Amino acid sequence: MAESAKELLSKLVRINSVSSNSNVEIISFLQERCLQLGFHCRRYPYKDDAGVEKLNLVCIAGPTEEIANEVELALVGHTDTVPYDPDWHEATTLIERDGKLFGRGACDSKAFIAAALTAAQALGVAQLRKPLALIFTADEEVGLVGAKRLAAENPIFVSNAIVGEPTSLQPIRAGKGYSLAEVIVRGREAHSAYPELGQSAIIRAARLIMRIDEIAQKLRNEKHPDFSPAFTTLNIGLIRGGTAKNVIAGECRFTLEWRPIPGQESDKFLKYLGHAIEQQKLEDPEFDCQVNAGRTDTGFETPQNARVVKYLEKLTGKGSGTVSFGTEAAQLRQLGADAVVLGPGDIRVAHRTGEYVSAVELEKCVDILRHAIQEFCA
Ligand SMILES: [Zn+2]
Repeated sequence: MAESAKELLSKLVRINSVSSNSNVEIISFLQERCLQLGFHCRRYPYKDDAGVEKLNLVCIAGPTEEIANEVELALVGHTDTVPYDPDWHEATTLIERDGKLFGRGACDSKAFIAAALTAAQALGVAQLRKPLALIFTADEEVGLVGAKRLAAENPIFVSNAIVGEPTSLQPIRAGKGYSLAEVIVRGREAHSAYPELGQSAIIRAARLIMRIDEIAQKLRNEKHPDFSPAFTTLNIGLIRGGTAKNVIAGECRFTLEWRPIPGQESDKFLKYLGHAIEQQKLEDPEFDCQVNAGRTDTGFETPQNARVVKYLEKLTGKGSGTVSFGTEAAQLRQLGADAVVLGPGDIRVAHRTGEYVSAVELEKCVDILRHAIQEFCA
């Protein structure tokens, strides 16, 4: 059965696990592998917002027959992938060219999953003196939904975690959070020839947006020097308002996104926004605005001197870094872990047509994870 990480990756890529599909097939495949290796496996099912069946899977092996509820090390990979262009005919066939392994999910994050299983197999569970967990999640690409569910169920305490994402094998010890809000500004519709009869929602929204831009400048004062940029960033990515060129707009809505540095209070921006709205009401007493807060994912930070950080820095020969996007490390922090994000492949090619992972990095990752399991659990 001793197949290579590459062979295993090829089988994982063959299973289409785009987030909108059920991940039962890939979880069943992984569960069977883990059972063969001597792990105890527990499924955590749920239905997503579209009613599709999803599974998180927790596989534990340790020195005793009893299933531990505390593990020394968890290797965590998400089973879902982003969708792929229908013109990419080989998306679910792993193709090797010039040392690169192409396929949807090859890089994000099936390579890590293949490496974790291969590493566990190479060492063998009989060697374990402390419990090891392999955790496979659903719906990472659509808002860390599976990991959030798992964190809420709180099935195990985790001391150390390596969360698989393409980092070119650099250990990442901190990440920014991710928050969203929809802002709806209302005005009064009227014929544009008679402005005194209306109130433009677009002009009102524009004034509020200028205030939001001031908040963005203010947020720059609070710095986390390990990040680039070192502060909470803010973006208005979508705006929509009005119905016709000769109608004073009755409504304007825009979508705000911000990425808070870890350690900043999660509602800090919303408090600033509330204050800005109050200020605007002083100038425009009829100002009408509604804020629908969406996601408020917190960031994470594992101390620079944590054992898992130090160990992976030494093993990879790379200093630890930070990332400005959300990962499941925040949920692993909730389960108690000193969490580090690390995996083969480059995030910059991850969501593209022609996504790939380097075959050499895949093998290196197997080696890193095997050493990590040995260090923490054997
Ligand atoms: Zn990913």
